[in-house]
Amino acid sequence: MRQKMVAGNWKMNKNFQEAEQMFETLAELIKDNKPEEAEIVVCPPFPYLELAMDMLQESGIGIGAQNCYPKDFGAFTGEVSAAMLYSLGVQYCIIGHSERRSNFKEDHAFLAEKVKATLVNGIIPIFCCGELLPEREKGHYFQIVEKQLKESLFFLSAIEFSKVIIAYEPVWAIGTGVNASPEQAQEMHHYIRQLIRKNYGEDFADETVILYGGSCTSTNARALFENPDVDGGLIGGASLKPEDFLAIANSF
Ligand code: PEP
Repeated sequence: MRQKMVAGNWKMNKNFQEAEQMFETLAELIKDNKPEEAEIVVCPPFPYLELAMDMLQESGIGIGAQNCYPKDFGAFTGEVSAAMLYSLGVQYCIIGHSERRSNFKEDHAFLAEKVKATLVNGIIPIFCCGELLPEREKGHYFQIVEKQLKESLFFLSAIEFSKVIIAYEPVWAIGTGVNASPEQAQEMHHYIRQLIRKNYGEDFADETVILYGGSCTSTNARALFENPDVDGGLIGGASLKPEDFLAIANSF
């Protein structure tokens, strides 16, 4: 049975005091709203990771980063490595978010290096894939996602791959208020699982957690998560409101 999961991507939001307040509220709310089925992960900006570790330790909420650099240490001013994240106790790291692909020009090969670095350092990558609106409109979405997975993930050994979490995030749905329909999400998640089956076999395909991301809210989460191949969500905007975020985590 696959683990259900809801991960919150705060992006570049909240100042230190607001982050502290968010962690406090989450830790309080989860006492009465702990999901029976889903694991919850919070991915705040780097400067708040240590605070998150301290304040959420008791709650059972997992902590993730939003990015990392593929080298462990060295002359890479401004970067944070997977090795550093691991030494802090961080468990997850988002890799390949569409905002990093578009704003920072991160390509398949660079993302492959990042995935490898997380795994070597004991961090679970939450690997994002998904097509742009014109790619959806032209009907190219399966090929786009297949290429993203092939070039950045499918070089991994089966043992390495078994640690990876995939997040299907159609770019046209991110932050737009227009989520993929449950049917569109299921169609792509099923396709991704088929690709994993082809590359790694039945057991690995059955065990891989595939999250949906893109305007997922407490209103539409249940319909999305009901699909057999949708194992939860990577949540942006709605993760900034603890009540909504926990309502989503309780939508299985
Ligand atoms: C995201 O940024 O990963 C995301 C899914 O954002 P939103 O939920 O705001 O669409």
